[in-house]
Amino acid sequence: MREIAAPAEMREWTRQERRSGHRIGFVPTMGFLHEGHLQLVDRSRARADRVVLSNFVNPLQFGPAEDFARYPRDPGRDRDLAASRGVDCYFAPTTALLYPEPPLVQLAPGPMGDTLEGAARPGHFAGVLTVVAKLLHIVGPDLAVFGRKDYQQATLVRRMVADLDFGIEIDVAPTVRELDGLALSSRNTYLSADERRAALALPRALRAVEQTWRGGEADPAALARRGHEVLRAPGVAPEYLVLVDAELRAVARADARTVVVVAARVGATRLIDNVILGEGMAADPAGRR
Ligand code: AMP
Repeated sequence: MREIAAPAEMREWTRQERRSGHRIGFVPTMGFLHEGHLQLVDRSRARADRVVLSNFVNPLQFGPAEDFARYPRDPGRDRDLAASRGVDCYFAPTTALLYPEPPLVQLAPGPMGDTLEGAARPGHFAGVLTVVAKLLHIVGPDLAVFGRKDYQQATLVRRMVADLDFGIEIDVAPTVRELDGLALSSRNTYLSADERRAALALPRALRAVEQTWRGGEADPAALARRGHEVLRAPGVAPEYLVLVDAELRAVARADARTVVVVAARVGATRLIDNVILGEGMAADPAGRR
């Protein structure tokens, strides 16, 4: 596995691979890799000849009171996991290499960046889109793979790439869950054993909404009420549970394309999850960290 830290070297690697006729797939991450990230690598591998994985904890997308400093990091383990999963090129720039100066120009996500996660984390999606744009320009892939776990992020990246003509294919992979339903996340490492149990309220709430919808209820307010009943468990502070369409707008009636998005705090940890009603949680793959 080739390891690169400098953006110019990364560009050159892709240039040479493309000259050899290879199609490049890309998986951007913030490291502390788990099976969710690694299944994105598998998907990328199935659709491209070479796979690049980046590992960069992007300071721009964290608010001043958020967990940037304590975000979990384990670069040695990440490198080993990436190599053993068949990553061809591991791109891990330092902050000084990626941001030689604080950027004066950032991407504006528009109205889709102001709701849900964007409302809870002002400036978050400007930081996300700015780093994703930079990484896509540096890596120059044919295809980039994102996880549906971060539904709003994947939706915004798709729109950015379409609206600004990046000419890169965006693939969105289903959420990888533990056997008990909890979505894998690097932030799960913050949870104590009690909090880990309490966190199951999120997938339970999504499942309850899905089952109620399958039972014939299509009123989004009634479905959200059902979700909140399950989410309101001891140790869980709900932030939102709403039904939206693919563009994150509230729906008047739930159908198979409706997405149920949820965010809650468990102790000091903020967790998010979602389900597309027509696909259902049972279709999500399982995998342990
Ligand atoms: P992160 O390192 O948390 O920024 O995530 C990097 C990529 O992995 C993003 O596209 C995430 O949506 C994706 N991802 C994170 N957790 C999961 C999961 N449990 N299943 C699938 N994809 C995931």
